[in-house]
Amino acid sequence: MAHGVIIGAGPAGLTAAWELNRLGHGAVVYEQDALVGGISRTCEYKGYRFDIGGHRFFTKVQLVQDLWQEMLEGEFLVRPRLSRIYYDGKFFDYPLKPMNALLGLGPIEAARIGISFLWSQAYPAREERNFKDWISNRFGGRLFEIFFKTYTEKVWGMDCTEISADWAAQRIKNLDLIAAVRNALIGERTRAGEVITTLIDQFHYPKHGPGEMWESCTRKLAASGVETHLRHRVASIRHGGGRVNSIVVEGPDGTQSEVTGDHFLSSMPIRTLMHSMDPAPPRTVLEAADKLRYRDFLTVVLIVEQEEVFPDNWIYIHSPDVKLGRIQNFKNWSPHMVPEEGKTALGLEYFVQQDDEVWSASDEELIALGTRECDHLGLASAGDVVDGTVIRMPKAYPVYDDVYQDALAEIRAWVHGETSNLQLIGRNGQHRYNNQDHSMVTAVYAARNVAAGRAEYDVWDVNVEDDYHEDVRDAEAGAASGDRMVPGRVTEPTIEALVTDAFARYDAVALGVSVGLLAGMGIFLAMATLLLRGGEEVAPNLSLLGQVLVGFQASWGGALIGMVEAGLGGFCAGWFLAKLINFVIAFEEQRILLGVEEQAVDLLEGSDR
Ligand SMILES: Cc1cc2nc3c(=O)[nH]c(=O)nc-3n(C[C@H](O)[C@H](O)[C@H](O)COP(=O)(O)OP(=O)(O)OC[C@H]3O[C@@H](n4cnc5c(N)ncnc54)[C@H](O)[C@@H]3O)c2cc1C
Repeated sequence: MAHGVIIGAGPAGLTAAWELNRLGHGAVVYEQDALVGGISRTCEYKGYRFDIGGHRFFTKVQLVQDLWQEMLEGEFLVRPRLSRIYYDGKFFDYPLKPMNALLGLGPIEAARIGISFLWSQAYPAREERNFKDWISNRFGGRLFEIFFKTYTEKVWGMDCTEISADWAAQRIKNLDLIAAVRNALIGERTRAGEVITTLIDQFHYPKHGPGEMWESCTRKLAASGVETHLRHRVASIRHGGGRVNSIVVEGPDGTQSEVTGDHFLSSMPIRTLMHSMDPAPPRTVLEAADKLRYRDFLTVVLIVEQEEVFPDNWIYIHSPDVKLGRIQNFKNWSPHMVPEEGKTALGLEYFVQQDDEVWSASDEELIALGTRECDHLGLASAGDVVDGTVIRMPKAYPVYDDVYQDALAEIRAWVHGETSNLQLIGRNGQHRYNNQDHSMVTAVYAARNVAAGRAEYDVWDVNVEDDYHEDVRDAEAGAASGDRMVPGRVTEPTIEALVTDAFARYDAVALGVSVGLLAGMGIFLAMATLLLRGGEEVAPNLSLLGQVLVGFQASWGGALIGMVEAGLGGFCAGWFLAKLINFVIAFEEQRILLGVEEQAVDLLEGSDR
C-alpha cells in the first residue's frame, strides 16, 4: 500500500485523496487555510454563505458527475440561470444578443451602432492584431465600446489593444450579426434542426454552496481514516536522489514538522512550489517560476435589507464609471445561502492585482466603495445596506501571457527529471485555467498513477478543450475551462504583417454597397426633385438616362426603376473597383517584400565577409 502526501484541500487535493482511498491506498492532506475547497470554498459571515465568484457545477466528464453525486449525496440542487449585462441603467441579455442590444439601447444609440458598423465594414482594420480590431471589424467600434471593452479590461487589467485577436476569435465563435438576427426570428437551432436548449440555462449547485461539496468530501475522508490538516502550510519540499523525500509543514502555532511519504501530489501554485524546493532548483528554473503571473480577486459582500434585489444569479457590470466588474446575488444561487428573511446578500466582484489600491484598501473603505457603486448604479440603495464583509482571493486566475508556456515547459522538465514521485495537479498546481471538473480529473489521474506505481496517465493531458465548456462565448473570466479562454498579449508583427498593414485593402462588398447606395439614391432623389418641380414636363431633361437604364421613363415608376438599376450598376462598379485596387496593392506589396528580402540577403552576405 502506497502513501500519498497531498498539498492543498481544494477540489484537486481532496479528489486525489478520495481516489487514493478508493483504490485502497493511504493519503493525508495539508491545507494552509482554515477552510477546505480552495477557490471553490464557501465562506460564511454571520450565517450568510457566499462563494468566490459563484461556482456552477457543470461537466461533460461522467466520472466527475458521479463523484459529485457520491460526495454530496443528493444535496445537489438544479438551479435556473439568469445572468444579464448592465449598462447605462439598462439590462441586456447574456450571452449578448445583438437584436436585444439594439432594441434596448434605443434609436439614437442604435443609429450610432449602425453607422459605426457600416464604417467598420467599409474601412476595417487591415490586420486584426488585437481584441479591439477583431471585435470592431465584426460589430463596429461603438458596440465594441459598450459591450466588450470595459468588462474585458476590468477582468484582465490590460487595454484591449494589448490583448491578442485570436483570443477574441476563440471566445466569440458563435456571435455574428446575421446569425443573431436569424436566431431572434426562428430560435437557435442545431444542424439537425432542433432548437438548442443549452446546459447554460440551468446548472447544479450544492444547497449550501460549493464549499458544502468539499466539506462533505472531507468528512467522508476522515470517516475512512484520511486526515485533512487545516492551517498547515507546506513550507518546503525536501528532495534528493531523484525523488521527493519529505515535506516540512508549519502548523497554526508556527511549529514545523517533517512528513514523509511514498508519493507527493501538489496543488499549490507552481511559482510558490518552486521557491519551496529544498535544495533550490537551478536559477533558470526559479526565473521561469517568477515569470508565472496571476490575477487576483476580491469580493465585497453587502447584506441588503430587501427581500429581493434583482432576479439574476449574477450581473456583468459594463458601466465604465465604476470599478465593480460583476455582482452576485447568492440568494438566487440557493435560498439556503441567506439565513434571514427580508434580507439579501450581494457579492460585488473586483478583479485586482495584489497590492494595487483596491486590494490594499481597508475592509471599511471597500464596503463603502461597494455601497457607493451599487447605489450609483441603482442596483441597491445605500440606505438598505446594513452590513458587509470583504474576501480577498490571491492567485484566482493563472495568467497566460506570451512567456508562460516556455516557463512552464522549463519547470516541468526539471520536475520530471529531479522528482519522479512528485505530481502537479489542479488549477494553479499546473498553471492551467481549469474549472473544478478538470482540476479533479488531473487528481484522479495522479492518484491512479500512484496506485499503478508508474505513470499510466498523463496528468498534463487532461483535455480541457474537448469537454463541455459552459459557453464559449462567456466573457466571464472564471466560467469556462480551456487554454484559450485567457487572453494572450499581442506579439510583435512580422515584416509581412507590417507591409500589409501599411496598405489599405478595400472590402469589395462594402464598397459595392456604398457606391450602389449612392448611385441608386442619387438617381432617385434627382428624379424626385425634377418631378416635384417640373411635373411630367421634365422628360426632355432626362431623355439621356433612358438610353442607359432599361425601361426608364420620366415618372415616379421610372424613378424607382432608375434607383434599382443604378444601385445594381453602382454595386458592380464599386465591387470591381475594390478588386482592381486590391490587386494593384497586392502587386505593390510583393514588389516591396521582394525588395526587403534582397536587402536582407545583401546584409547577410555582407556580414559573412
Ligand atoms: C471567480 C471564479 C469563478 C469560478 N467559477 C467556477 C465555476 O462556476 N465552476 C467551476 O467548476 N469552477 C469555477 N472556477 C474554478 C475553480 O475555482 C477551480 O477550478 C478550482 O477551485 C481549482 O481547484 P484546485 O484544487 O486545483 O485549486 P484551488 O482551489 O486553488 O485549491 C488549492 C488549495 O491549495 C492550498 N495551498 C496553496 N499553497 C499551499 C501550501 N503551501 N500549503 C498547503 N496548502 C496550500 C490553497 O489554500 C487551496 O486551498 C472559478 C474560479 C474563479 C476564480
